Amino acid sequence: LRPQDYIREHIRTVPDWPAAGVQFRDITPLLQNPRVFRVLIDQFVHRYFDMRPDVVAGLDARGFIIGSVLAYELNVGFVPIRKKGKLPFTTVEETYELEYGSATVELHTDAVKPGDRVLLIDDLIATGGTMMAGKRLLEKLGATVIEGAAIVDLPELGGSAKLHAAGLPLYTLVDFE
Ligand code: IMP
Repeated sequence: LRPQDYIREHIRTVPDWPAAGVQFRDITPLLQNPRVFRVLIDQFVHRYFDMRPDVVAGLDARGFIIGSVLAYELNVGFVPIRKKGKLPFTTVEETYELEYGSATVELHTDAVKPGDRVLLIDDLIATGGTMMAGKRLLEKLGATVIEGAAIVDLPELGGSAKLHAAGLPLYTLVDFE
């Protein structure tokens, strides 16, 4: 069994959550099983060991779980990109459109330095709006996002294509329709 297939088998699909018609891809079973959790993190460690990012930036909230473990393994710092209103120090913010309404994410102004090479990570890419907002925040502070990483891509929603077109290389482990 390839690692990606082993990982895929431990992602749970929850129908009609959080709304009717949505198939939610739930990664919590991956975290619960220590063997799968290790295989998951090792995929990212192997990918990024040689690329040597200066910083790992994680997207609220599941990006924190995998991003912080990855940063620890790579021996680099971790910075959180949070939903608005959670970070105590001075921040930069970025607002993006959702299907209904909008969302705002924030980053501490001292989280990265100009020229830092940042790996941006989340659990899943759907429309790509969240990851695009994270990229913009990091760029506002003069950092370069070397790659976006996620466990799951939903390619039919067009997010990964949009991010790629915006000049962001991506690394994802599992696709779902
Ligand atoms: P996007 O901004 O449309 O790409 O949505 C991605 C964001 O929404 C990520 O932060 C995900 O954690 C979350 N998300 C959207 N759909 C799912 C899902 O099916 N499973 C887990 N997270 C999801």
